[in-house]
Amino acid sequence: AGGGTDPLLDGLNPAQARAVTARGPALLIVAGAGSGKTRVLTHRIAHLIREREAWPSQILAITFTNKAASEMRERIEGLLGDAAQGMWISTFHSACVRILRREAERFGYVSGFTIYDSADSRALLKRIIKDLEADTYGFTPANTGSKISRLKNELSGADDYAATANESDPRDRLFVEIFRSYEQELRRANAFDFDDLIGQTVHLFRSHPDVAAVYQRRFRHLLVDEYQDTNHAQYALIRELTRPVEPEQVERLTPPARAAEIDAMGRIAAASLTVVGDSDQSIYAFRGADIRNIVEFERDFSGAEVVKLEQNYRSTQNILSAANAVIGNNFDRQEKHLWTAEGDGAKIVGFTGYSQHDEARFVAEEIEDLHREGVAYGDIAVFYRTNSQTRALEELLIRSAVPYRVLGGTKFYERAEIKDAMAYLTSIANPYDPIAWSRLLGAPKRGIGPMAEAQLANFQEERDISFHEAMLAAPDLGFGPKLRATITGLAELLHRAARMAAGLPSTASADGAAPEGDADSADDPAWAEGEKRPAPVADVLKLILDETEMIEKLRAKRDPQDEARAENLEELVAVAREFDVKNPGAGLLAFLTEVSLVAAADDLDDTSGTVSLMTMHTAKGLEYRAVFITGVEEGLLPHQMSVDEIGGVSEERRLMYVGITRARERLFLTLASTRAQFGDISVAMPSRFLQEIPEALIDWRQSPGEVTGRGGTESRALNAPRGGQGSASGSRAGRGATRTDSSVSFGASTAGRGGSGSAAVSEPASGNMQSALDKW
Ligand code: ATP
Ligand code: MG
Repeated sequence: AGGGTDPLLDGLNPAQARAVTARGPALLIVAGAGSGKTRVLTHRIAHLIREREAWPSQILAITFTNKAASEMRERIEGLLGDAAQGMWISTFHSACVRILRREAERFGYVSGFTIYDSADSRALLKRIIKDLEADTYGFTPANTGSKISRLKNELSGADDYAATANESDPRDRLFVEIFRSYEQELRRANAFDFDDLIGQTVHLFRSHPDVAAVYQRRFRHLLVDEYQDTNHAQYALIRELTRPVEPEQVERLTPPARAAEIDAMGRIAAASLTVVGDSDQSIYAFRGADIRNIVEFERDFSGAEVVKLEQNYRSTQNILSAANAVIGNNFDRQEKHLWTAEGDGAKIVGFTGYSQHDEARFVAEEIEDLHREGVAYGDIAVFYRTNSQTRALEELLIRSAVPYRVLGGTKFYERAEIKDAMAYLTSIANPYDPIAWSRLLGAPKRGIGPMAEAQLANFQEERDISFHEAMLAAPDLGFGPKLRATITGLAELLHRAARMAAGLPSTASADGAAPEGDADSADDPAWAEGEKRPAPVADVLKLILDETEMIEKLRAKRDPQDEARAENLEELVAVAREFDVKNPGAGLLAFLTEVSLVAAADDLDDTSGTVSLMTMHTAKGLEYRAVFITGVEEGLLPHQMSVDEIGGVSEERRLMYVGITRARERLFLTLASTRAQFGDISVAMPSRFLQEIPEALIDWRQSPGEVTGRGGTESRALNAPRGGQGSASGSRAGRGATRTDSSVSFGASTAGRGGSGSAAVSEPASGNMQSALDKW
């Protein structure tokens, strides 16, 4: 490379350039938010390829979300063109699914395995808990589910847990039993839960060195973004992939492969590892993320070089100063010196509404103002701590006709009708899956009751056959003629759809309504050789929807809600059609994989042209010209649940830091002095994090004011969570205080808003306030 014009190095500062060009076994890039970590990673990959130090297929880049993966791919394509093809850029989960699909047979799974989302695993746990009558001991699908998930993130299985469990504690013993049977049931169902994807891949590598060797040889460069949020299982996976290939495995290579790969010492060097991260942005401890992974990197990966980036390219100085001030209150951290060459920029805007509706109104108005000033909707984001905050925001945004999209809210794939249709597709791919099968039996209702279902399930278990085979045997099970016809009819439909999905001609028994694709290919010579061509997924889905009349039945109800459900199903067909076009010949399994990963992590929604609403956790890695952080209150941010936990508030503070540092030019911090939650109106106190921001940086449009008094907040804040839940005496005092405050400061704000707040807007608002006050 060198000087002159190099598109991969020009414009980078020296530390960034070093991070792109350094070559060694391991590289750790530590830096604060917005310092170009992700950008450096992208350039580094492009540089490796352009300098012919790696083929695209030898690169494995790990991002935190699917969205981040596709952005990185686009950026690399922008730098390199087509050369980016064949590169693995994905989340840990997607990478593991790809590996498991190839290698599943190795350990008793079939490639068509199902990936259970948390609703599916909860459904499975519910059955197990019921069977073991464990609910009387306080076990619920939710609490066992999260405990199992935590253990799996530590790579601890039921047997490992049993080894450390307290034998004399009946609850512990029972938990072991639940965990064991959960693992067994997953295996019987040919299914993995989300945590298994990583844990089982690690397990596969450890138990099959020959398989491990394949991937150790293949990926010469491993690059991981957001390393601070890796958990132990992910860390173990990285360790496996960056281990030198074992000598016995080297010996088994063909001579040309050996000649090409081994060094003078007769070894194959370990893959190089680059990780980037910011320990101040670690916000997934509750999912087992372990900050130690980044802190102990140098010890774990000997010969590691460390590059620090200190210049922030994203935000104005005011925003950066606020972020630095907040995070400076965490003690156990490494001091960073983040600076920017940008000017101070606009001040941060603060606003206290008297209710969450008032807060939402302010947000909607400011968005309109920004839009008028030329900020595109797509450059604006609204963050909140919990999903329950969205409703008020959405109402006001709808009213003011601001286009918006909720990221990661009630997801498309979580809707009942979509899950129904997906259950068919899942069952077709994996006829051993009890959850999918059980769901499709009742969708739509067809008179197969719980007794019949249990009988079929027992038969399936006894014979160790698939659910579809069990259904075909219905005539032998003594069902009445009508039920028998229903069950075999359904089994035949599934059978037909499965053949279609697999690219096999429909059987002669099919009633002549063979799907088009098959009719054509019957004469195709390829069939003679037994070559399979999976049918388009949309065709398989259409067959199911047509035969079950799901859409027609919804429409027949003439209910607008059901009409929306029917439209969702049509949308699913469109999604499948789009997938078929983008991935010709990929087929059902690939589709199911994509859906399960997208559904569980984030959606690939196009947010250009719309304001984005999301939780602060979802906001990681993203940036917007204008950012609103709402509900900056004690009990919400920091969240009530964190306050009693060791390290809980520090983690919330990091979350606040992540939120603030998403903003490039404008930052708004809003709160409400009263908030309705769980049907109860309670007093809210300003977040302690607000106190941590120097006053001079914030321009309060309507401040929490005298009532919560800056000085007095700290002590009161500590009580807030309890008072906030409305314990009678504690909150009454607060309520009285708040009332005076909202009337006082509201007057101040209408004056303050002056130009931007029109009379038309403040009219109904004060009306609302009045009615809110009337409630006292
Ligand atoms: P986060 O911690 O939030 O993930 P990050 O460290 O990954 O942030 P990037 O997203 O890579 O930071 O970069 C932040 C912004 O700064 C991006 O818009 C990026 O394009 C820009 N940027 C980074 N480095 C430079 C540079 N040398 N010159 C100009 N812009 C830069
Ligand atoms: Mg980043």
